[in-house]
Amino acid sequence: MKILIVGGGMGGTALASFLKDRADVTLIDKAPKWGNIGYAIALWGNGRKILRELGVEHELLKDGYKIPWNVLADKDGDVLTRFSFNAFKPYGETLVVTRTALHTALIKSMGKDVTTRLGLTIDKLRAHKQGADVTFSDGSKDSFDLVVGADGVHSQVRDMVFGKDYLSYYGWSVWVFWTPKGFPQPRGVFEHAAGGKLCFTYPMKDSGVVMLATAESSNAKENKKVQLSELFKNFEDSIANMVDSIEDPEHIFHDRLVHIDMPDWYKDRVVLLGDAQHASSPITGMGASMALEDAFVLQDELKKVQSTDEISEALASYAKRRGRRVRSFRKASHTIERWLMVRSPWLTPFRNLFVRLIPPSFFTKRIEKLLKEKL
Ligand SMILES: Cc1cc2nc3c(=O)[nH]c(=O)nc-3n(C[C@H](O)[C@H](O)[C@H](O)COP(=O)(O)OP(=O)(O)OC[C@H]3O[C@@H](n4cnc5c(N)ncnc54)[C@H](O)[C@@H]3O)c2cc1C
Repeated sequence: MKILIVGGGMGGTALASFLKDRADVTLIDKAPKWGNIGYAIALWGNGRKILRELGVEHELLKDGYKIPWNVLADKDGDVLTRFSFNAFKPYGETLVVTRTALHTALIKSMGKDVTTRLGLTIDKLRAHKQGADVTFSDGSKDSFDLVVGADGVHSQVRDMVFGKDYLSYYGWSVWVFWTPKGFPQPRGVFEHAAGGKLCFTYPMKDSGVVMLATAESSNAKENKKVQLSELFKNFEDSIANMVDSIEDPEHIFHDRLVHIDMPDWYKDRVVLLGDAQHASSPITGMGASMALEDAFVLQDELKKVQSTDEISEALASYAKRRGRRVRSFRKASHTIERWLMVRSPWLTPFRNLFVRLIPPSFFTKRIEKLLKEKL
């Protein structure tokens, strides 16, 4: 079976690694080289299980930080609710790892059996019942039994094959930055949330990552550090201190949050995986784990294929299994999002009151259900 994977992020490299001994796999990525890009990624028990299947989990345990607890506080740092991550331990402790460490482990696991072509995208893609014909951006052409779009939120494969109607910006902007090594910060996930503004801090072993978000779809200003100080000036001082600690404002990542909500997973012999199909709110930090799950289930269905005529059946089963699972994920993620990402300053005091009253299990049981669910 000849397979093209477009996009070598988390899902694409995991799929290539699963398939490398069973299929003729080519993986392309628009990046000219694999680099040290990105910040931190949360790895939940479900994602860790897939990494274990690939034999790479142990590589992430050494430097990964085990999250002990999560606190939700108001803008002044007064704690509204706190939940321990002990409830998730039976499924594998939740780790924060650098994106680079996870990506490097997955690339290593692909080995040399996958033909990897970097700095390449697709110019034309013609999907049909027996396969797909591709013209690459360097002018070369090839045909494949299956093309997998694992090319992330702004998927070109999705746009080319399914249309451009599925990406929606839902009004939030985010800024992400590292705190310097040794910078004092809470040893669990700490969230300050008030009236359309959020600050998340994720601890790592010797540093941390901060995500600031606002419900206004703000563009990044030239001096992002000044912009962030201004936006969060009414929050407790610890946030201003973190913003002050930024050594190089050029390295502050800024983007607008998007949802991808589409019914289809495949069309003829082109199939989507990961963020390309179901990018969601970062509130649960489960995007990478979901992309890894997709890779696992797709290879699991392709394993059953005896001849290329059966690929469509495998895709239909993949879509069914993943459709059900992603619906549960979205439901959990939207519920948590509604409580944490309250837009209106007027609603914030009511949210704060209710969050103090409801048991923390209101949040944890939703995540636990996801971790328990069979793939
Ligand atoms: C550079 C980068 C940094 C990130 N940093 C973080 C982070 O710090 N924290 C976090 O939680 N999430 C981060 N993410 C998102 C996170 O990796 C994904 O949400 C999640 O892991 C789902 O994985 P995925 O495989 O679906 O998509 P991704 O991991 O986003 O992978 C998509 C891949 O497709 C490639 N690609 C895109 N368009 C094309 C094209 N037209 N042709 C060929 N290749 C293409 C990209 O270069 C990328 O390698 C980052 C994504 C990227 C691309």
